[in-house]
Amino acid sequence: MPQIKKLLIANRGEIALRIHRACHEMGIKTVAVHSTADADAMHVRLADEAICIGPPAAVDSYLNIPNIISAAEISGADAIHPGYGFLSENAKFAEIVELHNIIFVGPKPEHIRTMGDKVEAKRTAGALGLPLVPGSDGAISDVAEAKALADEIGYPVIIKAASGGGGRGMKVCTGPEHLETLMQQAGTEAKAAFGDATVYMEKYLGNPRHIEFQVFGDGNGNAIHLGERDCSLQRRHQKVLEEAPSPVISAEERARMGGVVAKAMADMGYRGAGTIEFLWEDGEFYFIEMNTRLQVEHPVTEAITGLDLVREQIRIAEGHPLTFRQEEVQFRGHAIECRINAEDWKTFAPSPGKVAMYHAPGGMNVRVDSGLYTGYKVPPYYDSMIAKLIVYGATRAGALRRLRRALEEFVIEGMKTTIPLHQALLDDPEFQQGEYTIKWLEEWLSRQG
Ligand code: ADP
Repeated sequence: MPQIKKLLIANRGEIALRIHRACHEMGIKTVAVHSTADADAMHVRLADEAICIGPPAAVDSYLNIPNIISAAEISGADAIHPGYGFLSENAKFAEIVELHNIIFVGPKPEHIRTMGDKVEAKRTAGALGLPLVPGSDGAISDVAEAKALADEIGYPVIIKAASGGGGRGMKVCTGPEHLETLMQQAGTEAKAAFGDATVYMEKYLGNPRHIEFQVFGDGNGNAIHLGERDCSLQRRHQKVLEEAPSPVISAEERARMGGVVAKAMADMGYRGAGTIEFLWEDGEFYFIEMNTRLQVEHPVTEAITGLDLVREQIRIAEGHPLTFRQEEVQFRGHAIECRINAEDWKTFAPSPGKVAMYHAPGGMNVRVDSGLYTGYKVPPYYDSMIAKLIVYGATRAGALRRLRRALEEFVIEGMKTTIPLHQALLDDPEFQQGEYTIKWLEEWLSRQG
């Protein structure tokens, strides 16, 4: 069985640091690759080796496959972890890594490819027995056909980009008079953003929750689930705060649906970590997509299961069987993650800049994943998320009290952050009750003035 000795982290920010930490705890050396804008990043400082792979623009650095492969060869890394975003769901990259006899810490390239095309993903999920959102069987291009289908499933419908991601390339259509224009717009936007104009149609669910299951497969037909995460608190289809377990899913429902997704992954021969995303309405699950990578919100699952998901990814990549059987996975307590962005919390205008003072909260059951330190300059070129605060409590109420205390302690001076947003959210009685859907946060924000 290959033993990874040196791992190249093809990412930046908090997730690069997260991967570095897992590696060092496993006795694996790390290679950081970075753009010129990230020379002072914390993960670059902590890694055993660091290699500059290009200028600030991600296309020239974090998405630059030849430079990343060269860095792996020069440093003698025997594995690459892609983190999330950037090249993490690029099947071609995974193939190229494996062609160079480097271990790709992620799924089989063919599964990345299938799930990366949402039309293919839905078809595959349906064939594996997962419940789907009603919609087109595949891509739609013909307007007359689209109208007939929309009549059948009922308005409103949503037009989505087959290659979409990050909440982009979606259009909600309320009636037949708008369908042609919205299909064209969605196609044009999808082409510009993803280089692929293919779109498909789904019923637009009125007020669902976003509930996703964490899965792991060994690539040889064995798979387990690690329960669900509730990611319904979203702004512009982007997650803002996540929790596990979901306030609305019972232990029986978790076991039942978890069993369904684990069986689907086992049947597929899935390898590594994955997330199956569903919309949930009136007690029913509807598959929307699968992410073939580690998720930003993975720490809430770690908190309630006590398992290290990055360590498990690395062990599976080395060819080990799954470390735990389904019966051994226990769900305890409640965890909440806040995504903290360098943004004005009312306008969401980006606010990069120099960290004048940094002090992270601590104490029992408080975890902060962040590359920030006093004096660090947040570069303006990348995602605005600068920290994740994860708290754990024996109960949801306890986790909420701990979150309030931890947010009070958190000091990030020198830029605007979304810490006040999370503090205001915590004061809301509906949020406290766990009564929210994917629409709730935007409505709440519009009431804040
Ligand atoms: P992306 O890959 O861009 O994140 P998803 O398919 O995962 O796209 O959808 C992101 C979010 O968009 C969901 O969490 C949900 O808020 C909303 N959404 C997607 N499909 C539907 C639908 N059929 N009905 C209602 N909302 C939807």
